[in-house]
Amino acid sequence: MSSAKKKVIISACILGEYCRYDGKTKEIPTVMKAFEGWEVIPFCPEAPLFGTPRERIDVVLVDGQKHILTHEGKKDVTELLRKEIESFCKAHPKADAIVLKSKSPSCGYGTTPLLDEKGKEIAKDNGIAADIFLKNYPDTPIKSENDYL
Ligand code: SF4
Repeated sequence: MSSAKKKVIISACILGEYCRYDGKTKEIPTVMKAFEGWEVIPFCPEAPLFGTPRERIDVVLVDGQKHILTHEGKKDVTELLRKEIESFCKAHPKADAIVLKSKSPSCGYGTTPLLDEKGKEIAKDNGIAADIFLKNYPDTPIKSENDYL
């Protein structure tokens, strides 16, 4: 019999993976509980690219465009992340739900600090993965872990 399980993409740190920039996890058991019986697809674009622990990254508005820059070195890693996330979307073309870690420069959905070039917060916005997911999964609801607390 073929499995007809619904699929949910979840930020891997919410699932208990130690993939955060500081080497820690942000496990939220209530999220896992909410999706019991679903096929869970863990997602973390930063750890495979930059390792764990790693330098923090920020979403910075440069010439009217959002860029992802490393916190200290100001290295632009936007394209690296974009390719990693697009390749994840190709590998997983269908999802029935998405749960993303709030405030993250990759995963945050409407909760991520958007900085100006001096490092001042000018708005709350989406991380780069949330922006790409909105385009690639237009019919899939996106939530944050806070919706399950
Ligand atoms: S918030 Fe996203 S990018 Fe950051 S550690 Fe969690 S899954 Fe990885």
